[in-house]
Amino acid sequence: MEIAPHEILDIEAIRRDFPILDQVVNGRQLVYFDNAATTQKPLPVLKALAGYYEGYNANIHRGIHALAEKATSAFELSRRAIQQFLNAAHVEEIIFTYGTTDGINLVAQTYGRRFLNTGDEIIITTMEHHSNIVPWQMLCEEKGCVLKVIPIDDNGDLILEEYEKLLSERTKFVSVVHVSNAMGIINPVKTIIEKAHAVGAKVLIDGAQASSHIDIDVQDLDTDFYVFSAHKLYGPTGMGALYGKRDVLDSMPPWRGGGEMIKEVTFEKTTYNDLPYKFEAGTPNIADVIATYTALEYINNLGKKNLAAYEHSLLEYATEALKDIEGLRIIGQGAEKISVVSFVIDGIHHQDTGVILDQQGIAVRTGHHCTQPLMRRFNITGTTRASFAVYNTKEEIDRLVQGLHRVRKMML
Ligand code: PLP
Repeated sequence: MEIAPHEILDIEAIRRDFPILDQVVNGRQLVYFDNAATTQKPLPVLKALAGYYEGYNANIHRGIHALAEKATSAFELSRRAIQQFLNAAHVEEIIFTYGTTDGINLVAQTYGRRFLNTGDEIIITTMEHHSNIVPWQMLCEEKGCVLKVIPIDDNGDLILEEYEKLLSERTKFVSVVHVSNAMGIINPVKTIIEKAHAVGAKVLIDGAQASSHIDIDVQDLDTDFYVFSAHKLYGPTGMGALYGKRDVLDSMPPWRGGGEMIKEVTFEKTTYNDLPYKFEAGTPNIADVIATYTALEYINNLGKKNLAAYEHSLLEYATEALKDIEGLRIIGQGAEKISVVSFVIDGIHHQDTGVILDQQGIAVRTGHHCTQPLMRRFNITGTTRASFAVYNTKEEIDRLVQGLHRVRKMML
């Protein structure tokens, strides 16, 4: 008999890599279902962080001593790992950032300020995270650009015909989330990119949620920019990456000024450094960059396809199991989804749901998930969101269902 990809994974062994899971919260064994906000970190990542501080803490690039060289080569190894993770053509196309938000702001503040002008149009979608709305609004305010929004249907899927209607020679930039954090819906980004390029617009894809669940190939996508955060893929917080096509990055002015991003400084003029350093002013998050290498290695060892298949089995199980809860409605039933279920329950506020689940040791996220315009589209103030990672189990989903029965009993 053939073994399904997700059956290859030894979930009990994987759980032992995440000691944080083995704890009692409010008298019950913890169930951690807030992975879309941030994933837990496996022991090898924790060891990589401590290993740097214990063994070779030094500033990078500038030192000539042994510790500085060791730190620099570990740091640059991580850049190569991210290049492979995204299948970027060139290593200098990978810029270290503090995360997805930072990457989007970098592009808006450099590419946007240099190349967008009054009347130019920027297209986003209804389901964007605030971090892919506000930087563009700030740019629009400053430069007189116009923000356009691709609508969604009642299932949460983008209405592509409406996108086509928005596109014109005025469209200069399209910035779209690969996977919605609030609904888990996977957007057809390849088609979106193709159509944007057909009118000469540049494209940024927000990969914050996609990067840990989907194989990313920036060359196949042909995207101009791709951004993600390490903390959502079993890596540390305060660390992310921006991928940009080399010629596009080259054409952009730097953003933050300071050490490392320069070749030569005089009081009259500064010459900027080459890629990627042009965009990396100041001492970076060295330990977190180094530990991200280990996080990617951890994912690669498990196999992203196996992760995706296992998580999908959890999604299917949860979607079915939640039908047991009277009055529960899943928000975002799109054609293709990652392992996120976002729901509302008739007559019960999401915050009450979250508090009562927490009393039972179950961690979920409640609220607008930094997607207030999306919530408005569905005429709700928020949802309860359970998002699954590789260490979650069907037994934990059963706990969620039991927990929700209790929520109904207490609230109605
Ligand atoms: N975009 C999406 C889709 C997200 O889910 C998030 C975080 O939840 C972000 C952007 C922002 O990521 P960060 O806070 O790591 O910068």
